[in-house]
Parts: sequence; C-alpha cells; structure tokens
Amino acid sequence: MKNFALIGASGYIAPRHMRAIKDTGNRLIAALDPYDGIGIMDSHFPEASFFTEFERFDRFVDKWHRDSGNKIEYVSICSPNYLHDSHIRFALKNGADAICEKPLVLNPWNIDQLRLIEKETGQKIYNILQLRLHDSIIALKKRIAKELKENPNKVYDIDLTYLTSRGKWYFVSWKGDQTKSGGIASNIGVHFFDMLCWIFGEVEENKVHLKTADANAGYLKLKNANVKWFLSVNYDYIPNEIKDKGLTTFRSITVNGEAIEFSGGFTELHTRSYEQIIKGNGFGLDEAYGSINTVSQIRNLEPLGLVGDYHPFCK
Ligand code: NAD
Repeated sequence: MKNFALIGASGYIAPRHMRAIKDTGNRLIAALDPYDGIGIMDSHFPEASFFTEFERFDRFVDKWHRDSGNKIEYVSICSPNYLHDSHIRFALKNGADAICEKPLVLNPWNIDQLRLIEKETGQKIYNILQLRLHDSIIALKKRIAKELKENPNKVYDIDLTYLTSRGKWYFVSWKGDQTKSGGIASNIGVHFFDMLCWIFGEVEENKVHLKTADANAGYLKLKNANVKWFLSVNYDYIPNEIKDKGLTTFRSITVNGEAIEFSGGFTELHTRSYEQIIKGNGFGLDEAYGSINTVSQIRNLEPLGLVGDYHPFCK
C-alpha cells in the first residue's frame, strides 16, 4: 500500500484523485487546500489529516515520515495551474514522486527547471494525460499508425471544436486569469493538443486566428495533419440545434470528415492513470513537453484575424 498526500483537495477534480488512490488500493495520509469546504473527504478518506495552511501541511509531512518511518510515496497535485511547479518541487524535495494535473506547467522553461530537480532528487514527475488512456483514442492511434506505416507522408484534415459554457464566475476565478490558468488554450485545449500530437506527430506550424477571454482559435500543422481548432467557454458559440436539446457543451473531432466518438468513458481514466503510474508507466516530463510548448506559443502569438486556414466558427 502506497501513501499519498493531496494538494488542492477541495476543488472540482480532486475527488477523482481521491477515488483513484482508493481504487488502486492505496491511502491518503494528508491533504491541503486553503478552502475548507471539503466534506467529500468523508466519502473517501475520513482519517486523512487536512490542512488549510501550507506551513502546517509541510510540518506534518516532514514529521509524519520521521515519526512513522514510512514514506509519502506520491503527492497528487490538483491546485491551480500556475502553482503546479511549486507544488511539484515540494513533493520531490520531500522524497515523493509528483502526480500532477494538466497543464503540468504554463511554459516549457518551467519543465527545464523541473528536470533539474528530478535529477537532483531522483524522484519522478508524472502528468495526468488521461485522453491517452481512452479506448477510442487508443484505437484511433493504432489505426492511424497502421495507415502511416503504409503511407508515411499522408496528411489528414482535422477539425477540433470544443464549445462549453461557463458562467461569470469563470472570469472571476483563477481559470479566467491568463497569468494563473494560461488562458483557454492552456486550460482546456492542452489535452486535445497533446492527444493530436501523440497520434499525428509534432507541431511544425502554429497560428492563432482568434484570441479573446472566452474563445481561442487557430491552426496547427502537424507532421501528418492540418488541424483547424476552436475552443470556447461562451454559450453563444454553441450551435442552435445543440442548444435546442438543452445541452451546454459541444465536442467534436473529425479526421478527414469522420467524427471520432469519445464522449463517454471518462470517469475511470484517473484510476487508469494511477494504475499505470504505480506500475512505472506514467507520462513524464518528456511526454508533457510538446503540448506545453504549443500552448505557451499560442499564449504569446498575435492573432491573425480571419486570414488563411481559420476555423469556420471564427467570426
Ligand atoms: P478548482 O478551482 O475547482 O480547484 C483548485 C483547488 O486548489 C481549489 O480548491 C483551491 O482552493 C485550491 N488551491 C488554491 N490555491 C492553493 C494553494 N496555494 N495550495 C493548495 N491548494 C490551493 O479547479 P479544478 O477544476 O479542480 O482544477 C484543478 C487542476 O486540475 C487544474 O490544474 C486543472 O487544469 C486540472 N483539471 C483537470 C481536469 C482533467 O480532466 N484532467 C479537469 C478539470 C481540471
């Protein structure tokens, strides 16, 4: 049985980590979150210690392993994106591996720093990239790999459209603050960019057509694909036929016009990620680097407007 600590324990995604710790037969020793609305702990680890102050959490973790002679083997990190690298450093310097939510960090040079600390401490950093463990995505990767073996220069046309709806709170919270979340492409798009590059190859060209607080759109030329992408948190972008069904999210990926179905099968993916990490097969800094580099570039590129290969949703 492995011992875990959890940072950012009161937020939206943390219960999936609690469940993954439990489902993989491990235990949570301590949790940290400045917000104390954390009754969810009772469903998973009522016996875990909980702290709202970092310094008390730090003291506990240090004392716990000295007193018990046991190790906290993993620190799971579900805090806001801009805090990830600091929380990862805490984990590694305390002799634990880090399991960190996406985006691992905001910029590629943060990864370079973390690489040094991995080397110094001998501990590992794992990133949750759960789409790589989704059955439909794995099937797509296998299919494309087979096709590319026969025709290595084949180039696919991809449309990535992810439209969701977030209320006013989003823009007040850290998620709506580019310096904390990295912006929409980093916070929402990073999963998809990672998945597309995993299947269709490295980014060769990166263009941004639209960049507003609630929508980002652009074009990526990958080794084997041209991708027009559009991401939004604004309800107004959702097509009327979707709104008429009472839905507030629309997600679509097409490859040469063919829709890739991957709407279900998400809830278990954190547990699958943990199973792989514990077996030593998690996704590390090298796997995270490409998509972090892409979203960092997107953040810094000037939008071109409606010129070239822009997504049809751009207005
Ligand atoms: P959230 O705002 O609901 O939760 C973040 C939590 O971190 C909050 O409870 C907040 O109080 C806490 N926090 C803030 N400052 C802290 C600090 N200094 N130390 C410790 N905790 C602190 O956000 P969320 O949606 O749960 O997102 C958390 C992370 O998970 C983000 O990195 C996000 O990108 C990622 N995420 C991943 C997925 C996925 O599908 N893998 C989905 C949603 C979010």
